[in-house]
Amino acid sequence: MVCLKHPDREAVAVCAACRKPVCGECLQNIDGANYCSEECYRRGTASKARADGVIRRGKKSDALLRRRILIWFIILLLLAGSGWFIYSKNQKKIDRKLRNVAKTVKKGAGKAINAGKGAMPQDSKYKREREAMVDQQ
Ligand SMILES: [Zn+2]
Ligand SMILES: [Zn+2]
Repeated sequence: MVCLKHPDREAVAVCAACRKPVCGECLQNIDGANYCSEECYRRGTASKARADGVIRRGKKSDALLRRRILIWFIILLLLAGSGWFIYSKNQKKIDRKLRNVAKTVKKGAGKAINAGKGAMPQDSKYKREREAMVDQQ
């Protein structure tokens, strides 16, 4: 492996940011790491900071989502619990009401069916005419 800028020189390290081989002369030791240039160091740390920020933000929103789900779960649990509590306290009343509703629905459905039957032509003029024609033949 030779230096990228000096093809006649053997590289002594690779840049920590861009992984390019660098010779002893090109080598820049910054913050205890080897870089091909100061510019590369700045770019490297900037992108690393960006990546860290993204990871941190992701973790933060994850925690937020988890907390939101937990809150909704608790709300649902409370709703279900209070609903069950009210139902068990007024079970007889609610059951009677439900039965009444069912009865009313059944009555209404029966009425609707009867009304439908009444509206249907039981003996149409067309049918009578056809029958008369058959009789004549
Ligand atoms: Zn570099
Ligand atoms: Zn070099």
